[in-house]
Amino acid sequence: MDYNTIKESNQTHDEKYKDMGFSTKCTHIGQEPDPIYGGVNVPINLSTTYAQTYPNVPFGPFDYSRCGNPTRDHLERLIAGLYSAKYSISWSSGMAATTGLINMLCTGDEVICMDDMYGGTQRYFRRISQINHNIKYKFINMNNYDVLKSSLSEKTRLIWLESPTNPTLKVTDIRTVVKMVKEFNKDIIIVVDNTFLSPYNCNPLSLGADFVMESATKYLGGHSDIVMGCTATNDDKLQERLFFISKTTGGVPSPFDCYMAIRSIKTLSIRVERQNQNGLILAQYLNKHPKIEKCMYPGLETDEFHQVAKNQQKGFGGVLSLVITGGLEKAANFLTNLKVFTLAESLGSVESLADHPALMTHASVPEDIRKELGVVDGFVRLSCGIEDVEDLLNDVKQALEKI
Ligand SMILES: *Cc1c(COP(=O)(O)O)cnc(C)c1O
Repeated sequence: MDYNTIKESNQTHDEKYKDMGFSTKCTHIGQEPDPIYGGVNVPINLSTTYAQTYPNVPFGPFDYSRCGNPTRDHLERLIAGLYSAKYSISWSSGMAATTGLINMLCTGDEVICMDDMYGGTQRYFRRISQINHNIKYKFINMNNYDVLKSSLSEKTRLIWLESPTNPTLKVTDIRTVVKMVKEFNKDIIIVVDNTFLSPYNCNPLSLGADFVMESATKYLGGHSDIVMGCTATNDDKLQERLFFISKTTGGVPSPFDCYMAIRSIKTLSIRVERQNQNGLILAQYLNKHPKIEKCMYPGLETDEFHQVAKNQQKGFGGVLSLVITGGLEKAANFLTNLKVFTLAESLGSVESLADHPALMTHASVPEDIRKELGVVDGFVRLSCGIEDVEDLLNDVKQALEKI
């Protein structure tokens, strides 16, 4: 048996849930009772190596844990199921997933990406991949289709989207970008970073993307206790190449973290549903607050990305961004006065978190670029958790009163 045979042999279990609802998939796909004791939870398999019956004839489907591990395999089937995808790979972090995807490219290739993205992705693109490996990145506003068209060239190999973007919550019409790019050259790989939405709120693969990637550290993990990434695709060739890169470069998560991720995903839909509700209620309140210059949340009917978001998303997530009138001093005052929100990087977790992108998550983005994108000194990002919304509302209210 090889790695793929076990995937196929397990399909009877996962197939049962194919046409069922999202919450049912979260609690069942990849989670059949273990065949020895019938345990209803996936066992943590810590072995790094697996017995062979003859040289190069493994006893079972696995030989060495960097290349494949039973606990990780359960998680990958689960995440593939949530994206209705044929394949998924889990990675040791969101950035390991990003690096893996970029490893499919060669020196001289060009990437077109958003001008506004997670700071760590920009740091990797600008300061390692571009400089050391001579891959060219064109950072553009994806919503300006003329610029997108004129940026496409014979050397374009990959399009990197992030929707909504971190931290200004710009939404890209994924179907339109896919159509334009594939008309130009169907071999250009389209990747969507879906971290802000999770498969509960959006499935970029169903909108035509070749790959979805996600920092599972955020909504999938959901409890601020695992760092992990994932990718999913329906394309046999692309998966084969990416799996080869994964097993060769080795950025894989530990079996314990895979177990934790499976445990977390069981409650993904109820967590995200609550976070969608809390995000919207807070955005509606803050949007009208006199001390707030601007509130960004695509769930607001007045938000410039509302219609596009509604057309491709099931919900709008728990993250909203604000510009507080009065710059850094007022923003810092607001952040240090919060009592329920914790001032910390990251997002998507059950506890509410607050971030100052210019000084924290996006400090590595050059200052002029940050300012151009509107990530000014009064800019604050809030990630709503699953707490009672009255407490979150009272918290931002009292902190704003103090500034
Ligand atoms: C956090 C984040 C990443 C990176 O993920 P890690 O798990 O921290 O490596 C990538 N993209 C977005 C949008 C993120 O928020």
